[in-house]
Amino acid sequence: MSILKAVRGTRDLLPPETEIWNHIENTARSVFGRYSFGEIRTPIFEDTQLFARGVGEETDIVAKEMYTWEDRARAQSEKAQSLTLRPENTAGVVRAYIEHGLGESGMLQKLYYIGPQFRRERPQKGRYRQFYQIGAEVIGPPSAGSESPLRDAEVLEMLATFLNELGITGWKLLINSVGSASDRPRYIAALREALRDVAPTMCIDCQRRAETNPLRVLDCKVPEDQPIIETLPRIADYLDEASQAHFAAVRAALDTCGVAYEISHRLVRGLDYYTRTTFEFQVQSEEGGLGAQNALLGGGRYDGLSEMIGGPKAPGIGFAIGADRLVLTLEAQAGQIAPRLADAYIAPLGEGLNPAGLLLARELRRAGLRIEVGDGGFRLKKSFETGNKLARNIVLLGEDELHSGILTVKNFASGEQTKIARGELAFALNPDSHSSPQE
Ligand code: AMP
Repeated sequence: MSILKAVRGTRDLLPPETEIWNHIENTARSVFGRYSFGEIRTPIFEDTQLFARGVGEETDIVAKEMYTWEDRARAQSEKAQSLTLRPENTAGVVRAYIEHGLGESGMLQKLYYIGPQFRRERPQKGRYRQFYQIGAEVIGPPSAGSESPLRDAEVLEMLATFLNELGITGWKLLINSVGSASDRPRYIAALREALRDVAPTMCIDCQRRAETNPLRVLDCKVPEDQPIIETLPRIADYLDEASQAHFAAVRAALDTCGVAYEISHRLVRGLDYYTRTTFEFQVQSEEGGLGAQNALLGGGRYDGLSEMIGGPKAPGIGFAIGADRLVLTLEAQAGQIAPRLADAYIAPLGEGLNPAGLLLARELRRAGLRIEVGDGGFRLKKSFETGNKLARNIVLLGEDELHSGILTVKNFASGEQTKIARGELAFALNPDSHSSPQE
């Protein structure tokens, strides 16, 4: 029989790497909590219509990358429902905002999520078919100030804080404004017009994009196309006065907070719902170990999204961090992490002492220590070998130790062997444990 493997583009996350994942998620919860965000968990699959309307039928995600299936109808009279594994989480959050009437409080909603997303992309380093995003949304009625450029700047400043707290170095923030819902069509028309003459000299993909989705031409990475792209119209020249003022206010707040950024005229991003501010945090490839996939996270404002999916006016701004890419970056910058060692390996000396070994482990674990228990069926040599792989110390538990309450402890690093009273063992093995010898 052939061996079954994880499906292409998916993978198992194993210890010790999952320690980095936990560290990233814990840091996100801690930082976002300080900015008063609360966690939201939406379903992993939704009605296909949500993404078709929210993300946009013409986007690569909806046109090519979704995992969609017809759910079986429960009754004959019922129509089969088309369902989709979520390719991103903003549409789901906005659906939940509408469904639960969260805007009726009149307050801004600040929500974050952590979870898997699914896109049928061509797998490569830093790009998977099941990948993980950590994201957040600030959304609410305009009366709550949801359109304010202050919200954009606050979100960007929070992201800078998050990356700095994780210790990511060499990140770069790129920002742009894609204008209002009326600015963008004027720009796209101008782009289409300009592309009519030059597209035939560009790469095959750009020739197609010039027809189907001209904004995507700006993402092209083919070196020969770059000088041509530089001559194309820039969206900055198509912003109305209100969008220009909004963008200037975002930049002024970032300047005041000392968050460095670069303006990137070509940052238009792949989702239809973006309006005004768009942004991306990148990490230089030699520092990030990401190769071509150097976008750590992206986001922007989506003032019309709620209405696109049938809700009230609810402007918002949000982002999604690619957690897989953060892990790769941390690994490249900090090196692989070593498996975590236990504080002690308890070696019962004889099978009859196994239950007593478990009880000692229970006491030490309750004191907060990380403990492995061996098996009294092992010979002493094997106990020492196993203990040395798993823990910093070995604690021998024989009949003598059990009755005298004095245990023999050997530290593997120093080779030192000592006798320690049971009541002082937790503190001796790890002074950070919650028990102290005085207690
Ligand atoms: P997007 O939802 O397309 O705006 O992407 C936001 C972030 O999610 C990107 O900057 C990436 O870090 C990450 N991301 C998007 N697609 C993938 C993927 N297929 N595999 C891994 N990370 C991804």
